Amino acid sequence: MAYKHLLRHLSLSCLAVVGLIIPPAVSQTFKWPDGKKMAISLTFDDARGSQATAGIPLLNEYGIKGTFYLVPSAVRKQLEGWQKAVASGHEMGNHSLHHPCSGNFVWSREKALETYTLDQMRSELTETNRQIQAMLGVMPVSYAYPCGHTFVGRGRGTQSFIPLISELFMTGRGWLDEAPVDPAYCDFAQLTGMETDGKDFEQILPIIEAARKSGQWLVLAGHEMADSGPQTTRLAMLRKLCEYAKDPNNGIWIAPVNEIAGYVKAVRDTINIPEMVVTDAKGILHLTAEKGKGTGPQIQYMPKWKAFGWFGAADAVEWEIEVPRAGVYEVRMEWSVDDKEAGKAFVLETGKVSLSGKVPRSGGWENFQSKSVGTLRLATGVQKIKFRPGQAFASGALLDLRQIVLSPGH
Ligand SMILES: [Zn+2]
Repeated sequence: MAYKHLLRHLSLSCLAVVGLIIPPAVSQTFKWPDGKKMAISLTFDDARGSQATAGIPLLNEYGIKGTFYLVPSAVRKQLEGWQKAVASGHEMGNHSLHHPCSGNFVWSREKALETYTLDQMRSELTETNRQIQAMLGVMPVSYAYPCGHTFVGRGRGTQSFIPLISELFMTGRGWLDEAPVDPAYCDFAQLTGMETDGKDFEQILPIIEAARKSGQWLVLAGHEMADSGPQTTRLAMLRKLCEYAKDPNNGIWIAPVNEIAGYVKAVRDTINIPEMVVTDAKGILHLTAEKGKGTGPQIQYMPKWKAFGWFGAADAVEWEIEVPRAGVYEVRMEWSVDDKEAGKAFVLETGKVSLSGKVPRSGGWENFQSKSVGTLRLATGVQKIKFRPGQAFASGALLDLRQIVLSPGH
């Protein structure tokens, strides 16, 4: 099985110290390009005046490209400056048409999110994209939530517009968040944004160092780019930050949001992210390899096959499932196995119930088949379900498992 050389899924371990659980910082499966240890995106909002006149020329000195979340009316005031910014390779994002925030900000009372609808939000976001493209010739794929607010309406009528951002854009960035983005886990429509305004480099450095330790993506966010002032990312700080980020010894990949998001998405397609399995419209549970958690010394998720490759007797795969109705479920397995490895025992177990069987022949490792292998009585609620070898074996493999499908009986 020489083709199974792709990313290895390493299990995470938790450390319990005096009653405190310290979670693992980041999935061990995520790798940055060229041996980099972390990523940074410099982002700035509102198309403030100082960005085009002072901030962008400074970034250009270092050959560093930022992401600028624009409000079209502000771009219009400095059109030439923003056209130059596009020509120098900076990313232009969408920051809405009228910058609506909660009406708790008095300046936003006339355009309060509490009075918005999703339809209105959709049409304004689309119009913003249209205006930016007309002025600058680029179509935004990145969005930043004004004030970091993600809702429309109020009380029981409140709705999130995160799904809309997820539909219209590659990413959505928040504001005043307290942690960097975990590339292996993040929801692209909710990238965290950490503030650079009013900070010295010495205050940013510990955040960078912590993010590097756990291989995270730090999306920094600011407003004005000047020597001093309110809501201002100071140029002196920015200079130090650029120098630090450019030093190859620091292992930093600094690039616009769309560039890093594109890389993260591509890598994410090749690793599996354990996720709770819920029923589809027909009440069926699809326990795909992509949603399972592999444990054991040799198990590997193989993106090319969307399956777990099964090597040793100590390997297993576990899913978290939510069963809405207790009852007997038909168990269907989608697998492949070399003829000479077929026939070993497997066990599927949850709580006190289990199903045992022998892995049938599929006609070779590259030939996946789907077959009913029995039934299992499931209890209602969230539970773990595990698939493992049912016998010890010293060499060879059990099977490659793509998914287990649990269908409710009649
Ligand atoms: Zn803003």
